Amino acid sequence: MIEKKIKKELEANLGGKKVFEEKEFLIAYSYDATGNEFLPDLVVFPENEKDVENVINIAFRHKIPITPRGAGVGYTGGSLPVQGGIALVFTRMNRILSIDMENFIAEVEPGVITYNLQEEVEKKGLFYPPDPASLKTSTIGGNVAENAGGLRCFKYGVTGNYVLGLEAYLIDGRKIKTGGRVIKNVAGYDIKSLLVGSEGTLAIITRIILKLIPLPRYRRLFQIDFNSLKKGAEFINEMIRTNISPSVLEFMDETSITAVCQFQGIALDPSIRASVLVEIDGNESDVIERANRFSQLVRNTSVIDFKIAETSIEQEKLWSLRRNISPAISKYKPKKINEDIVVPTSKIPDTVEFINNLALEFNIKTVLFGHFGDGNIHTNLLVDPENKDEMKHAEIMLEKIFKYVISVNGSISGEHGIGISKMPFMKFQFSESEMEVFKNIKKSFDPENLLNPGKIFELK
Ligand SMILES: Cc1cc2nc3c(=O)[nH]c(=O)nc-3n(C[C@H](O)[C@H](O)[C@H](O)COP(=O)(O)OP(=O)(O)OC[C@H]3O[C@@H](n4cnc5c(N)ncnc54)[C@H](O)[C@@H]3O)c2cc1C
Repeated sequence: MIEKKIKKELEANLGGKKVFEEKEFLIAYSYDATGNEFLPDLVVFPENEKDVENVINIAFRHKIPITPRGAGVGYTGGSLPVQGGIALVFTRMNRILSIDMENFIAEVEPGVITYNLQEEVEKKGLFYPPDPASLKTSTIGGNVAENAGGLRCFKYGVTGNYVLGLEAYLIDGRKIKTGGRVIKNVAGYDIKSLLVGSEGTLAIITRIILKLIPLPRYRRLFQIDFNSLKKGAEFINEMIRTNISPSVLEFMDETSITAVCQFQGIALDPSIRASVLVEIDGNESDVIERANRFSQLVRNTSVIDFKIAETSIEQEKLWSLRRNISPAISKYKPKKINEDIVVPTSKIPDTVEFINNLALEFNIKTVLFGHFGDGNIHTNLLVDPENKDEMKHAEIMLEKIFKYVISVNGSISGEHGIGISKMPFMKFQFSESEMEVFKNIKKSFDPENLLNPGKIFELK
């Protein structure tokens, strides 16, 4: 509970209609894509850096927790105010401040929607590649704080690969600048990289400087269907070993492709057990040459169908298959436990087989899809929370999956972060000494644990 006089102090300092305590606001900013709910005491919408500074100073003085929030479409509860306090929502700080055509740099506020930035830079012949599937809703601030990945990471890397510099506020109200407008920068500790992926637990980001690259003018998209899951998974490895260098290497298992075809009313060959989406981009002649080599590779592989999407309309049809997997599979069961494990790419076929055997053993409908080119296997366990046995089995299955992933040198999260959802599994991946290092870093930024408390690990 935040006292009335503190709300008044915030309103007086921020001006305008930026501070809300009405129930409808508290509810609207109490959940994210996990479906979990934690009510904040106040919702505050800063419109500029000065507003952020004012909020932090007042919250710090009164020892009120602050949870930064972008669009709230995170998959691990990072934006949930688990200890109440202030939900600091960045949707009004959504200006693209500059697009520097000489240095290929964009400077943005954290609330810019990822897709909006992409559209703006593409008008100028430039390209901002990071593209989480949530790109039409998620913010750059949320992407940076989660180090979001996406479909094109295989060729272009993750959000962090494009962050050149950050401006951020520490919990005591001091502002720091880290990195800058240069490609190379090794002066001092790399605080910028520490803030990338820190899930809003170390500092509040108010300005982001991003690297841009020239826009690839030409692309071709392919869908390849297989009559066995294993063959599909092995094809991913084969692709990685070639120098065809696709921008996208996505996988859909039988359940995902069946669900999405039903969802979109598309007829489906019943023998399909897996589909792979491959995009090749670049200059026209280069794309044609690589696409020819790719077609040759497919001809020498045992596939049941091979589609080429050349026009943007054809390509959009294939993309919509991939993008609609999440809503399509949600229809099967009331709850979807959504994990984003990642393994070395050579381990993909074994991992897929391991998970499918577990699914059979525990009788849990399990869907595998995602950025397999990065070894990032989106593993969705479809369950009914009312069915206690099913929930127990899902819990055991998850633990086995995480332990397996670590045993093959993978990680419990490739892109969604830890938040609250994966906190119990951190101990599988990190030793006590490693956890101690994390906690000491947190304490040096936020000694009183006021900034997004209760995330990633418990601070005792
Ligand atoms: C359908 C769907 C598809 C998705 N696909 C992908 C995908 O392909 N790849 C992927 O990586 N993720 C994906 N996600 C997950 C999610 O969209 C990303 O994690 C995204 O980066 C969240 O952005 P957001 O603006 O919603 O951030 P939020 O969820 O609001 O916040 C995420 C984290 O960022 C912190 N934060 C936000 N703003 C700031 C700030 N200014 N300063 C400091 N910390 C801040 C929050 O405290 C929180 O910890 C998907 C989610 C959905 C629902």
